[in-house]
Amino acid sequence: MTDETIFDKIIAKQISADIVYEDDQILAFKDIAPKAPVHYLIIPKKRIATLNDANPEDQVLLGHMMLTAAKLATEAGIAADGYRVQMNVNKGGGQVVFHIHLHMFGGRQLAE
Ligand code: AMP
Repeated sequence: MTDETIFDKIIAKQISADIVYEDDQILAFKDIAPKAPVHYLIIPKKRIATLNDANPEDQVLLGHMMLTAAKLATEAGIAADGYRVQMNVNKGGGQVVFHIHLHMFGGRQLAE
């Protein structure tokens, strides 16, 4: 079992977050340090430390996270203009919180 992170506390509602979507599998909330006018994190409730730790059984869950990112971009009004979906993997990939999460951000012109 991987270590608990701050995202487990958000899932358990032990610390607050600005939640924009929740179901039995996933949670989405506003990033506390947004890189763009819209910046959400989409996380599974199941604890998976990095994408390297995901299994074939997580395939539907990962797809659900992706489709929810698109749905939330549409709801935020940024889907047509464009936005970015990103998952950082391990320290070299810029991952800081070791509970997988998709970043969905946009609302401004994104450079490289
Ligand atoms: P990463 O570098 O991909 O691991 O991204 C972690 C993200 O989590 C960063 O963009 C942080 O700003 C964000 N973050 C950390 N703590 C919180 C929190 N309590 N609520 C919302 N976002 C957070």
